Amino acid sequence: MTTAAQRLNENLASAQPSATYRMMDRVAAKRASGAKVISLSAGEPDFDTPVHICDAAVDAIRQGHTRYTQVAGLRALREAVAAKFRRENGLDVDWRDTIVCSGGKQVIYNALAATLNEGDEVIVPAPYWVSYPEMVQLCGAHPVVVSCDADVGFKLTPAVLAAAIGPKTRWLILNSPANPTGAVYTRGELAALAEVLLAHPHVLILSDDIYEHLTFDGERFHTLAAVEPRLAAHTLTMNGVSKAYAMTGWRIGFGTGPRWLLEAMEKLQGQQTSGASSISQHAALAALDGPQAFIAQTRRVFEARRNLMVELLNETPGISCAVPGGAFYAFASCAGLLGRRTPAGTLLNTDEDVALALLDEANVAVVHGGAFGLAPYIRVAYALDTESLRQACQAIQRFCAALSD
Ligand code: GLU
Repeated sequence: MTTAAQRLNENLASAQPSATYRMMDRVAAKRASGAKVISLSAGEPDFDTPVHICDAAVDAIRQGHTRYTQVAGLRALREAVAAKFRRENGLDVDWRDTIVCSGGKQVIYNALAATLNEGDEVIVPAPYWVSYPEMVQLCGAHPVVVSCDADVGFKLTPAVLAAAIGPKTRWLILNSPANPTGAVYTRGELAALAEVLLAHPHVLILSDDIYEHLTFDGERFHTLAAVEPRLAAHTLTMNGVSKAYAMTGWRIGFGTGPRWLLEAMEKLQGQQTSGASSISQHAALAALDGPQAFIAQTRRVFEARRNLMVELLNETPGISCAVPGGAFYAFASCAGLLGRRTPAGTLLNTDEDVALALLDEANVAVVHGGAFGLAPYIRVAYALDTESLRQACQAIQRFCAALSD
């Protein structure tokens, strides 16, 4: 029975819990009951944070850097962030044009919360990372989801963008390399989107570059504000140390954009979480200013895993997978499994049924495509060692081979 006190904020009540975390929780519960689960659900590198970064954090603790920092981040870290944006992205950034937050998620949420009002719209190309539409919804605004199917490489096209923009559009969210599809926008594709955006200066752009360093086949990464500098005043370019340096748990994200926006985000953060963890900020400084070899090494490892996963998934009856150009996800169609029945008797009507049955009956965790706005697919995060990936694919293949009509 709900009491009069149990009333939630309406925007929260109508939002969905994070589907990625829900699957991670299911995996944890299953493991706690003794099952051996191979998890391809969490989108995080399986490597340890490099030792020099951990040492910098320990030094920070020992040297007493354990107090509040400035809300927008330590000056030294903001200088390193600005230098990163100049060095790696060709963006003309001063340290005052940056903000440091508790993870990339907070950069995005702060930007949306600082700017959205009831009735505002945010264009979210689908497949999308699960949290974009929910964050928009939490801010009382309306996500305008536009479908970008496999036939366009899961990418937004200028025509679809132009049709989605209206007078209430506040933001467009772009993510390349993309979660969950691994799609990578070329320079030409971004330039074509920029043409449309230049004609609509009331639209802000959030460029989520968190998978920047994971592009394969020699393809180079490009970010919108560098491709079209005239859009820089309208763009929040967001990134962080989580994926590049295997630092997901340290919770450091950062961004650069117009000062009015960064100041509003800082104001919000100052009333909310304050500055990010002082210790993590010192670690992030060591990551950005220290040796960078880790990035190229891990990219090579992920590319080899990508090749293996695409091959094994495409050998699986009922599953087909395009070759993702980046990130560490394969977004595989499971259309061929629908309508079939598992040995335990479950009828697979949806991709969510497939994901749940894979966990229950094959001990492999993936996230269903519907959670990312496109069904019927499964997202496979290949951030695991090769042997575990092979075992997971064998289990998926056995599961598929045992289905009946
Ligand atoms: N970005 C990761 C994922 O998609 C981490 C989990 C999350 O925050 O959604 O799996």
